[in-house]
Amino acid sequence: MTIIFDLDHTLFRTNLFKKDLFDIFYNMKIEKNVVNQTYNEHCKKESGGAYDFKKHCSKIEKEIDCFDKTAALVGFSEFVELTDFSKYIERNCIRFLKKQKKLGNKLILLTKGGEEIQRIKFEKTGLAEFFDEFLICKNNKFQELNKMKLGRGDYFVNDLFSEIIETMELFPKVTFVMLDLNRKKLPGDKISFLGGVEAINSIDLLKI
Ligand SMILES: [Mg+2]
Repeated sequence: MTIIFDLDHTLFRTNLFKKDLFDIFYNMKIEKNVVNQTYNEHCKKESGGAYDFKKHCSKIEKEIDCFDKTAALVGFSEFVELTDFSKYIERNCIRFLKKQKKLGNKLILLTKGGEEIQRIKFEKTGLAEFFDEFLICKNNKFQELNKMKLGRGDYFVNDLFSEIIETMELFPKVTFVMLDLNRKKLPGDKISFLGGVEAINSIDLLKI
């Protein structure tokens, strides 16, 4: 059995990470609206979602004359080195992955984003230890998905409903689960369904 996981908002608490990462800028007294606006320009408009800290800094540098880019880059290196990344994944995530490895299931992490930052998330959280493959895509996931042979019994776990629907067309027999860590909790940890797809907000509810 193959299980394909997404990284951001699925296994990784991206919102919390982003908040901690942007503290580097806030500690340098850069205003929130400048940080967010330059983030949107760099990441969403220009890079198609592939975030790069250095490029974000270059954008801020253009807006703020006294911005010390070198200090920000040092701050980034220290953040990566000193932060305990285990807080960005759910407590039971590693337990779940360990179990899947033991069962002999193949684990693939398929993520869209910037090469350096995704690799940092993958390695510093300890996720790297459990995955057979780690694939980073730039624009969309189709190039990688097209190379895969997936069928009945395999799983595709992702927070984005649109990516699930697109992938469903390629692999109609695969089981799709929408795992979105930001999704509101339902009373009694119930599982909801979105367009026929199981929707959960914790790996604890992923019954594989
Ligand atoms: Mg995601």
